[in-house]
Amino acid sequence: MRGLINYGSYCSINSVVQCLRGTRELRDLIRDIDEAHCDPTKNMVAGRLKRLIYEMTENSYGPCDPSFLVDSMSRYKGFSFDVQEDSDLVFGCILEALTDDGGPAKRIGQLWDITMEKRIRCRGCNTVTYTLDYANSIPVHMEEDLPNELQDYINFENTLTPCDCQCEKCHTKNSTEITTKVLSLPSVLCIKLVRVKNIGRDTAHMVKTEKRFTFPKTLDLKDVMKEPEAVVDALYELYAVIAHSGTHYCGHYTAYVREEDSWYLLDDTQVRLCSWEDVKTTYEARSTLYDGVAYMLMYRRNNRH
Ligand SMILES: [Zn+2]
Repeated sequence: MRGLINYGSYCSINSVVQCLRGTRELRDLIRDIDEAHCDPTKNMVAGRLKRLIYEMTENSYGPCDPSFLVDSMSRYKGFSFDVQEDSDLVFGCILEALTDDGGPAKRIGQLWDITMEKRIRCRGCNTVTYTLDYANSIPVHMEEDLPNELQDYINFENTLTPCDCQCEKCHTKNSTEITTKVLSLPSVLCIKLVRVKNIGRDTAHMVKTEKRFTFPKTLDLKDVMKEPEAVVDALYELYAVIAHSGTHYCGHYTAYVREEDSWYLLDDTQVRLCSWEDVKTTYEARSTLYDGVAYMLMYRRNNRH
């Protein structure tokens, strides 16, 4: 396991790449990517991710340089990664590029695909509508009236969310009641802890919440399936956590990744053996500046069946 060099704004990219390297489902598929066939004028993300992950897996010492991957992401997205981007933007950019690439890269992008059905009830006129929702992650909102434990949160069926769109039937902006059911389970589940919220009218009002939020080593999605009797086992095991310390404007990302039964803390060039107790410190931050809180969780489906 090797660290990654940070040229100033790469810690979010480094953390996401460490999580991807720790995803064995991705490593199984990445072998089939043909680097020579990547389009050098636009999308080279898949080929370069493969090269970087291979370098990181090599049995040698010292950190790897992720610049060539970052360069391909900049070309693909059309913006530089000179300033630190949020980890979910980085994750989204890589998955989008992989899916876009087609072939074996697309199959990697689809590892995280989750299909859900949303039942939306307008509290003004009682109209119920159903929509299909495709996502590559499940957002977790940090609100006072919502559970602060992941399994409880996932099982909490009715999430009251203020309506930001007008009801088609009664044309009023009422609050809606949204119930989400999972239709198809992903191989890898990404949970995004939404800790940054806009409390004003513009981006100058972004604040980060340090609210305590706990998550288990094993997560069960059975109760959120639309047809729970159709699946034998919907158990997921945690294998990676991205943590963020500092404020929304000035912070640092690190990753915790599990290999076999050991946890490692990956902090740019530093690779350190740690424990589940260390991972659990990301439930909350006692000091905003120094303690990392979890932003993103990766669970893999238990393959016993
Ligand atoms: Zn309505």
